This record gives sequence, structure tokens and C-alpha cells, in this order.
Amino acid sequence: MDQIKIYNSFSNNIEDFKPVNKPYLIGMYTCGPTVYSFTHLGHLRTYVFEDVFKKVLIKNEFLVEHVMNTTDIGQLTSDSDTGEDKMERQAKRENKSVYQIANFYTKDFLWNLKQLNINKPNILAPASLHIKEQINVIKKLETKGYTYKTSDGIYFDTAKIENYKTIFNQNKEDLKSDERIENAFEKKNSTDFALWKFSPKDEKRQMEWKSPWGIGFPGWHTECVAMAFKYLGNYFDIHCGGVDHIPVHHPNEIAQAEAITGRPLSKYWVHFGFLLKNNEKMSKSSGGFVRVIDLINLKINPLAYRLFVLNTYYRKTADFSIEAIQSSNNALNNLYAFSEKIKALKWLKLLRKIKFTNTKLNDKVLYNYYESFINALNDDLNTPKAIEILWNMTNEINKNLYSFNPVSVLKTLNEFDSVLSLDIVKHKTDKIPWKIKLLAKKRFILKKQKKFELADKIREQITNSGYQINDYQTFYTISKI
Ligand code: AMP
Ligand code: ZN
Repeated sequence: MDQIKIYNSFSNNIEDFKPVNKPYLIGMYTCGPTVYSFTHLGHLRTYVFEDVFKKVLIKNEFLVEHVMNTTDIGQLTSDSDTGEDKMERQAKRENKSVYQIANFYTKDFLWNLKQLNINKPNILAPASLHIKEQINVIKKLETKGYTYKTSDGIYFDTAKIENYKTIFNQNKEDLKSDERIENAFEKKNSTDFALWKFSPKDEKRQMEWKSPWGIGFPGWHTECVAMAFKYLGNYFDIHCGGVDHIPVHHPNEIAQAEAITGRPLSKYWVHFGFLLKNNEKMSKSSGGFVRVIDLINLKINPLAYRLFVLNTYYRKTADFSIEAIQSSNNALNNLYAFSEKIKALKWLKLLRKIKFTNTKLNDKVLYNYYESFINALNDDLNTPKAIEILWNMTNEINKNLYSFNPVSVLKTLNEFDSVLSLDIVKHKTDKIPWKIKLLAKKRFILKKQKKFELADKIREQITNSGYQINDYQTFYTISKI
């Protein structure tokens, strides 16, 4: 197996993956959802890639400790630490408490993960349950002299981090923000960010806590640092998120970690490109988002979206279109039909109804496919190439059906699926009614007896009932139309 290589935004290079601490235990932190609205396909593109990356690491025999936060406080409508708190605003809109909102949308998020076979993180940590840890981070920053006070909170002085403006090799212009902002006159630098915001004097917030600086709430950029320190230590292996975190959120996390530990929190910083809709990032705020439930209502298997995502390269953007997902749905059904056929062959082999030849030799061919599949994934997570290898393998097997051991084929498909998670072998097929099974058997016998006219009539009867017979040289399968 080739060495894992991954593009590290921190160095702007594709690097060999070498763990930081214990050779086999990988710490992985992924920025989670702000739980004030439904999870949409845009978020899920990032979560699918994170899931695949994790499964690739596991295939390479690493153990992965995966931590994700849910943001249920402190994310304001503007990146410049102004505007409304998104959670409090939604609570007002829905006439519910912030806790109810967080609970409801966290459940929705988890449901979505399940639909796409995305494994849950080992630790899913809400920011509101880690206030003490965030206060501790701010205290450390204060002791080391990185903070200052304004009329609305405690701020981080980004000028004190020498390389702040070149983190991720960005242009200074790219960094937020010289926008006009309410408290700009009090900020020392436009890139400074709030660590602790004071509750407004004339308003009682639902989520606020006592702190050494007064009643208020932590700024959004501190929660990930506090939770990563707590669960993964001061310096760990991988930190992931969408590319929207490159300009502000991740540099701010790195700045805090650098100030406290002298290290940039994580060794590898991995970012995923956006899912676009009408040439814009699919987002909660733009309103034009599509959810898994919308796919289900269109009778599209949610895993077709997973396949759609895997067919695109993680560092590029992908354009959403329902047609493209529908065509992934067809491709997924073809994959399922293929595995059904192999299952049928397995039984025929067991019952010694078919003779197989050369299977030992082809076990090696299957292994070679598996090896190139893993190598494609190890090569900077090249999922489109991995999928192409899967199709190449099915094509070759289809051409020589009776010289591949079906048990080995199913095993190989399962190996592929331990990363792809498309349910290739274990998918639920619609149960075929016994009447249809009986008719199919009758037709098969009639065909053998060369009574083709009668056999065709039965095929028509089966088709009219919504099923189709797929004929092969020595056997058949039945599937729903
Ligand atoms: P949010 O809840 O907006 O903080 O997003 C949670 C995660 O989903 C972050 O890692 C975002 O970068 C990612 N994300 C949000 N929208 C998209 C999108 N349209 N395409 C890809 N990733 C996204
Ligand atoms: Zn984060």
C-alpha cells in the first residue's frame, strides 16, 4: 500500500502523512454545525469527505479519535463580531428556548449523518457545555498578554502573532475585515476577534455565563481550541473543515493555540471545497438549500448523494443539480444489481449448478483492484479515481462472470464499501413476492424447453406486475422496475 499523502493548507503542499504522537492513534478535529437550522447537502459534502478520510486512515491501520463540536452559542451573523447571535435569533423566530433549538437541529444533524452512512464522531461536544474550558483558554491568553478590553468584550490582539496574516498563505487582502463595523474604532486591528462578549446591558440573553470579565458568552473561535485541547491535547494530527474556514475561523484558532503553546494546534489542516447551487455556496443564509429529506421525497436514495460527492474531487467545488444526483441514483442501482447478480452466482456455485474456472488466478486480479483502490484514496483522497477503479473491476468481472469466485468478489466489494459506505452488498432490496418468484421459475423452465412464446407471455405478466427478469447465460435475477 502506498504512503498516505494529503494536501496540507498550512504548508500549501501535498505532504506524506506522518502521525504526530503515538504512531497508531490519530487525533482528528472537525468543525461541526451551528445548530440553528437544518443540515443541508452543502454541509454533508464536507462531512462525507471527513468520513471517507477517517475510514481511509482506519484502512491504513490507524486508530482515529474524532472530535467534533456543535456550535450552540456565540456565532454572530457577521464575521466581524457584530450582529445578532444566530441561535438566539432563531429561538426568537421559533418562539422556543435556545436549548430547544439546539436540541432539535442537533437531532436533525445526526439523522442526516445516518442517512449518508457517516459515522458519528467519537466525541460530539456542544460549546455550551464547555464554558469553563473556554474561560480557561481566555485566562491563559490574558496572562500571556494577548488580550485587551473594549466596551463590548475581551479581544485577541492578532498583531501579537507574528505570522498571523500569512497563515494558510493568504493575501492580506483576503483576510477579513476592513468592513465598517460598529466597534471598529475600539479594535486595535481589523482582524482582532472577540474572545468574550459582554451581554448587552439592556437585554437578558438566554445563554450567558459569569466570567472574570463580567456576564457574557464566549466568542465562536475559542470553542474549537478549548475542546481540541481538552480531548486531543495541545498539538494533534488533523484539523478539517470547509474552505470557508480558511480566511477567519481557522487562522483565529491557530493564533490562540500559537499564543498558548507555541504550536499551530494541528499538524495537517485539510479543507473541503464548496457545494454550489446556482454558482453560489449552498448555505443556510442564502436560503436556497436542499436537504436529504428532499431527495427522499423525490424517491432518490440518500446514498446516491454520497456517490455524487465521491465522484467529485474534495479540493474542487461541485455544482448541485438534481439531474446529477438522479444519475448517481441510477449508477447506485446498477451497482446494487451487480452485487445481486454475484449473490445469485454464489448460491449457484454452492449448489454446484455452475462450473467456475480460473478463480484462483482471478483472486489475485481482485486483490490488485483493491490495492489500486486504496492507493487512489491514499493519494490525496482521490475518490473519483477510486470509484473509477470500482467500475473497472465490475466491468472486468461482468466480462468473465464464471471465472471469478463470487465469494471473493463479494468480499472485495465489502472491502471497498468499508470506505465508500454505499451499502453495495448489504443494501436492502425490495422483497420479491413469492408469486413473481414462481412465475420466473416457470418461465426459466419453459425457456429451457424452448417454449419461447409461452416464456415471453410470462415475462410480460411479470413486467406488468412491476418486476423485471435479468437473464444471464445460465441463471436469472429478478429486480423491481
Ligand atoms: P456551519 O454550520 O455553517 O458552521 O457549517 C458546518 C460545516 O459545513 C463547516 O465545516 C462548513 O465549512 C461546511 N459547509 C457549510 N456549507 C457548505 C457548502 N455549501 N459546501 C461544503 N461545505 C459546507
Ligand atoms: Zn472550529
